[in-house]
Amino acid sequence: MNIKIIDVTVHVIKSKLDTPFAFSQGWVNKRSATIVQVKTSGGIVGWGEAFCQGLEPPEISAAVIENALKPILLEESPLNIEVLWHKMYNATRDYGRKGSVISGISAVDIALWDIAGKYFDQPIYQLLGGAFRTKIKPYATGFYRLKGKGEANRLAEEALCHFENGFDHMKVKLGFGIEDDLNCMETIRNALKDKNVTLMVDTNHAYGRSEALQLGKSLEEYKLRWYEEPVVPEDIKGYSELRSKLDIPIAGGENEHTLFGFKSLFVNNAVDIAQPDIGSCGGITGAKHIINLAHSFGVEVNPHVWGSAIAQAASIQVIASIPVTHFSVFAREPILEYDQSSHPFRRELLENPFELQNGMVNVPKGKGLGIEVNLNTIKKYKTN
Ligand code: MG
Repeated sequence: MNIKIIDVTVHVIKSKLDTPFAFSQGWVNKRSATIVQVKTSGGIVGWGEAFCQGLEPPEISAAVIENALKPILLEESPLNIEVLWHKMYNATRDYGRKGSVISGISAVDIALWDIAGKYFDQPIYQLLGGAFRTKIKPYATGFYRLKGKGEANRLAEEALCHFENGFDHMKVKLGFGIEDDLNCMETIRNALKDKNVTLMVDTNHAYGRSEALQLGKSLEEYKLRWYEEPVVPEDIKGYSELRSKLDIPIAGGENEHTLFGFKSLFVNNAVDIAQPDIGSCGGITGAKHIINLAHSFGVEVNPHVWGSAIAQAASIQVIASIPVTHFSVFAREPILEYDQSSHPFRRELLENPFELQNGMVNVPKGKGLGIEVNLNTIKKYKTN
């Protein structure tokens, strides 16, 4: 156990998009990532990534890691993962607890798990107690807008394209006005009518309670797997109200953080499905806390992931280790969010990128995160 953290390097990487796209909260014109590289005295290097949503400057969590976390980490044993999580959380509590500060902690935590896996020569899921599954069904996240409204036909073509690419679960971005949303859903459903496809919707909290309810009522007949972020994350009573009034499972949590934040969702019966993002909920350690807490409330956990390849790898390790919440012979398994929107460096970041095989993603069996990061890609897109 004579291994110490000797350096923590943050890489802020960015790439402009040729064609900007919109979700309900704005236009995304570049893809960014805050990547952390933790070096140890034994030569093992761990990789982590902070969640950086489409409108978020990656420099915020980078500054957190550089200025607040690095001084805590240097000279510590990287194997004291839980201890370091608490040290980082306690040291930043008065100005942190949510948002990019917790994303910075998450990135570091992922890197520490990667180091531990490499040190013990095991995949992370093994250190978490083993894999409940060795393959994960991915779902296509997409259906972003290139103009804004009136794109139902293009979105229906996109749905067919996802189906051809092996996806039978898809999440449609809504929140562009209820009339336009419903038109898109009907057109997509008609395009997929002969296919056995499960849909989900995500408004990214575009509406208040009454509109969110109106949209939900109109979508009940679609047999959606879930209705994601129907209202703003602060409106926990709104979540509870929608959950009691709608015959659709309510999902949320990509903008919630740590077990303390998720506890509010659970005690208020706000969600059927909790969606912590491993790059912002507190990392793998944070996810572990949340998964156990959710289990005690009978809430399913289905992580959110929109990051680059390191975030995907961390999510895959965690999803492999999540027990089903409601056990039965045909229990519902967690699925992997597999973003299909434009991302110039996500695949390029790995020497061994993830591929779909018969509509499934295999959980890597290599040590740590089970990936090889391509340093040339980091150099190519690095901005700091
Ligand atoms: Mg979402």
